[in-house]
Amino acid sequence: MEKREDTGKRSDELFEAMGGEISDGFPTIHAEAHRTAAGTPYLKSPGVAMISKPDTNIAGLDGFLEGFDPELRFPEYLDDPMELPSSSQLCKTAGQVCYASFGPRRTTNENAAAYFERLTSAGHGSVLEHSNFSFLLYGISRSVTHELVRHRAGVGVSQISQRYVSGAVLRFVERPEYQNDEDLHRLFEGRADRAAAEYDAMAESLLEKQEGGASMLSADYKTDARKKVQQTARSLLPNETEAPMVWTGNVRALRHVIEMRADAHAESEIRALALRIFLCLRKADPILFGDYELTELPDGTCMVGTPHRKA
Ligand SMILES: Cc1cc2nc3c(=O)[nH]c(=O)nc-3n(C[C@H](O)[C@H](O)[C@H](O)COP(=O)(O)OP(=O)(O)OC[C@H]3O[C@@H](n4cnc5c(N)ncnc54)[C@H](O)[C@@H]3O)c2cc1C
Repeated sequence: MEKREDTGKRSDELFEAMGGEISDGFPTIHAEAHRTAAGTPYLKSPGVAMISKPDTNIAGLDGFLEGFDPELRFPEYLDDPMELPSSSQLCKTAGQVCYASFGPRRTTNENAAAYFERLTSAGHGSVLEHSNFSFLLYGISRSVTHELVRHRAGVGVSQISQRYVSGAVLRFVERPEYQNDEDLHRLFEGRADRAAAEYDAMAESLLEKQEGGASMLSADYKTDARKKVQQTARSLLPNETEAPMVWTGNVRALRHVIEMRADAHAESEIRALALRIFLCLRKADPILFGDYELTELPDGTCMVGTPHRKA
């Protein structure tokens, strides 16, 4: 229990140190946009905004619970004095339906953390699949999102289309390793300026060719024509290009991603992203994500781990 409180305190401090805010119960860690002297926009850290979470109404169980023998005292299930986050309540109720654990001997909400610890330590993670959270993720490079989308089970992805959007929304991501080194930072800014300029020049030249009737770019519709120009020009874009997405995961999948990607062996940019996702989730539901521990690594960054991996 002490460990839980200690991690809770440390993750709250880290959330605040990273500029985390909670608006109407939705945690966010925003990332500021910067510009090179030539005006090319770029970001230095991942931005994570929780935009959706469960809204559970167990009062809807009343008709079901009242239909059993009154001696079982099932309707008392709805009178638990302790309110849980909706995401925990949903998973707990789903688990308790399995064994019809509604009577006086059930695990009450006060002991929800221990209930989930029993489930996760035994690898019975399927009840965690009921609660989903959605995030807007930005300030993340195309190389990081390529790693993130390797997680297939229990997630949904809607990512910016480099075929559809124009160079006007092109931004870049500076890796942490470049940020505090004057030479590496200058080289990064130079690369970002060149990539943006080359992309614009290529799009312009493809457009001219298309207007001149180049067969490889011919298109019947205006949107189609723009796509043909942009899908070709995007081949120039580097891994440092920002690739924002809305990313949704159920709690079982989210836990797995945190365990794989906020680990010491994970690549540093995705670890920074997974850490922020964890900090937001822990704020939203300290019970479902309460078994994790934060450990400082020699480079001053943090990893997140749990004894109950892969629930
Ligand atoms: C440090 C690190 C280094 C890596 N290096 C490389 C690399 O060099 N090259 C490379 O290609 N990838 C690499 N990866 C990616 C890794 O191999 C996985 O593809 C990625 O982490 C997704 O995890 P997952 O397979 O658990 O899939 P998820 O989609 O997150 O699935 C979760 C779990 O569901 C089950 N599951 C999901 N899909 C299936 C399925 N089709 N069949 C059966 N069970 C399934 C599995 O138990 C799986 O663990 C690396 C990952 C990490 C964390």
